[in-house]
Amino acid sequence: MSIDAKDINFEELGFGYMDLPYRWRAYWKDGQWYKEGLEESNMIPVSEASTAFHYGQNIFEGMKAYRGQDDQIRLFRPDENAKRLNASARRLIMPEYPEEKFIEAVKETVKANADFVPPYGSGATLYIRPFMIGTGDNIGVGPAPEYIFSVFVMPVGPYFKGGFGTSKFVTSEYDRAAPHGTGAAKVAGNYGASLKPGKDAKSEGYADVVYLDPATHTKIEEAGSANFFVIERDGHKFVTPASPSILPSITKKSILYLAENRLGLPVEEGDIFIDDLGRYEEAGAMGTAAVISPIGSITHQGEEHKFDYSDQPGPLTTALYKELTGIQYGDKEAPEGWVVMVD
Ligand SMILES: *Cc1c(COP(=O)(O)O)cnc(C)c1O
Repeated sequence: MSIDAKDINFEELGFGYMDLPYRWRAYWKDGQWYKEGLEESNMIPVSEASTAFHYGQNIFEGMKAYRGQDDQIRLFRPDENAKRLNASARRLIMPEYPEEKFIEAVKETVKANADFVPPYGSGATLYIRPFMIGTGDNIGVGPAPEYIFSVFVMPVGPYFKGGFGTSKFVTSEYDRAAPHGTGAAKVAGNYGASLKPGKDAKSEGYADVVYLDPATHTKIEEAGSANFFVIERDGHKFVTPASPSILPSITKKSILYLAENRLGLPVEEGDIFIDDLGRYEEAGAMGTAAVISPIGSITHQGEEHKFDYSDQPGPLTTALYKELTGIQYGDKEAPEGWVVMVD
């Protein structure tokens, strides 16, 4: 049974699943999408031989809907999520879901569950999870004969406990992706590989894992399920890793633009060596769920490196956070095309 919006305390939400009244579904067979629209059940009956269960044909996206001070509901760069979903689909030989349909599906799902979009100022947002799976009868290794695309939503609070405070991260011996693997695609398999390192880090008291580059283990790649950045002490340069095995974050792309064009910082996509963290004053994680989460320290091979701002968010991390969230909630002017109204 789905939940009633009146029973939710939006200020106290964590990051958890809720069964809301409506979700979008679309079905693909013989080269075409059909039966596209809202459905009420959160269950999906599919063949036991679906490739999603056996061969990892399983891609997803993560986005949010934001309620502004004017009570209007906004999406942040949904065209970018549509493009990335289709890039992931091509990597796993799945059908694309056209960009206009993707945006319509997201808007319709948000509108149908509008009572659940948290109020402005509550600290919560509506998390949106589009995904696609391979289905149908198939047992040999190969792409599925059928597919399902779906979008479901739920209100969520902060991804890391404590919200906008500094967290401690730790490096892992494990990789989330291979040098020429699927790291740049948003595929479920990357997450399967990350469950153990993530759980190990959390059980040792860290917020999440810092992944090093899978080829040499000398450079930082990702911060758990978010992209990574540092601010160099010399010149306050904003630096974020460049690598073909990183998932290209839309938040990262946006922050690169804002750092350069709104804060006037020099920016670089380049190497951040794990043995050379002394050059940086601030560090953080960036993603839809993480927003901007300041990182206070990184422990590597048993030694904790503290950034200059290890107990409280640094000034530039804070300025970037305010700029980004100001745009997302409609309080600050957005660059052309970044904010899409749901109605
Ligand atoms: C989704 C994701 C991100 C963040 O991407 P956004 O578009 O900013 O939400 C970063 N890293 C990984 C591994 C991801 O799956």
